[in-house]
Amino acid sequence: MGSRHESSETLRNKCAACYRQFNKMEHLVEHMRTSYHSVHEPMCGICRKHCRSFESLREHLIGPLPKAECERIFKDRGCDLCLTVLSSRSGLWNHREACQFSRSNNGVLCRLANLGIQDELRLDNSRAKVVALACKMVGGGSDGSLDLCARVCLIDEHERIIFHTYVKPQLPVTNYRYETTGLRPEFLREAMPLKQVQRRIQDYLCNGEPIWHIRSRGGRARVLVGHGLDHDLKCLEMEYPPIMIRDTAKYPPLMKTSKLSNSLKYLTKAYLGYDIQTGQQDPYEDCVATLRLYMRMRSQNHDTEDCPLATDPQNRNNFASWRQNELERMTPEKLLEISRSDYYCWCLDSRTSHTNS
Ligand SMILES: [Zn+2]
Ligand SMILES: [Zn+2]
Ligand SMILES: [Zn+2]
Ligand SMILES: [Zn+2]
Repeated sequence: MGSRHESSETLRNKCAACYRQFNKMEHLVEHMRTSYHSVHEPMCGICRKHCRSFESLREHLIGPLPKAECERIFKDRGCDLCLTVLSSRSGLWNHREACQFSRSNNGVLCRLANLGIQDELRLDNSRAKVVALACKMVGGGSDGSLDLCARVCLIDEHERIIFHTYVKPQLPVTNYRYETTGLRPEFLREAMPLKQVQRRIQDYLCNGEPIWHIRSRGGRARVLVGHGLDHDLKCLEMEYPPIMIRDTAKYPPLMKTSKLSNSLKYLTKAYLGYDIQTGQQDPYEDCVATLRLYMRMRSQNHDTEDCPLATDPQNRNNFASWRQNELERMTPEKLLEISRSDYYCWCLDSRTSHTNS
């Protein structure tokens, strides 16, 4: 909402997404070229301002320097986990029950799984299933700082364990990191060798597709969810195509305003509402948290647009295909309409029409 003190000229040069104002239209065009605003950005449910991440939306709504009008309404009927605004206070209470997760209620299964190997890795003919993976590391090298994978867990999209095992590292363990891992030498002595773990998981993920063949969504290979998967995959000495990876440490809406990653512990507390990684850590718990974050992001209800994928050629080039003076004659709304995201929004995973692109 523009106040009546603003000149019409400044209003014309106001970004329709983030509401920044520019003295000259050419500066707004320049801003739009580099901002990649889109329908996929987190948005304030009150003033419709687009934010680069949920962190900046949180600042906008809750503080330390919130927008007063939005803060007032948000305090009354906004959910401080998912940051949506409900139409009434009673609506908020109902919503909170579904939005607030509790620590995975799979504790018994989890402890049983601790006793040994659980292995349900089977190839099937289903399309693009979702799997979450997490590891726990022990220390190798002379000072124990080298991460060696000692436990790994995979779950399906219903939070069921499909693989859970200790891993026998290829290098000697110099620090078991007992306080956080709960691991003792005897647990790893007879454990599954790393090479075998790697092959089992790789085969399961590819699900019968040759790895060099996985170039697009919609095949049989599985979507791999995790947090900081680069590191996990490196420790497992595994590769997997980036197009099939959904990493909660690298998804822009879940990153800090500074564009650094948030920890899984922080994200789980802030967006799911419960604590993880207290005391001795089970990779199952990390799997569940990262999967729930993924599911929440996938269920975002965004508008559909033409050519929404970051890989669409029109996507990054949409401004390049217009002349500067044509762009400068557009309204801010029109500029936003032709702007596209520079990342792949996970809401697109829920739309089957795009899975074959
Ligand atoms: Zn903007
Ligand atoms: Zn989206
Ligand atoms: Zn707002
Ligand atoms: Zn919520």
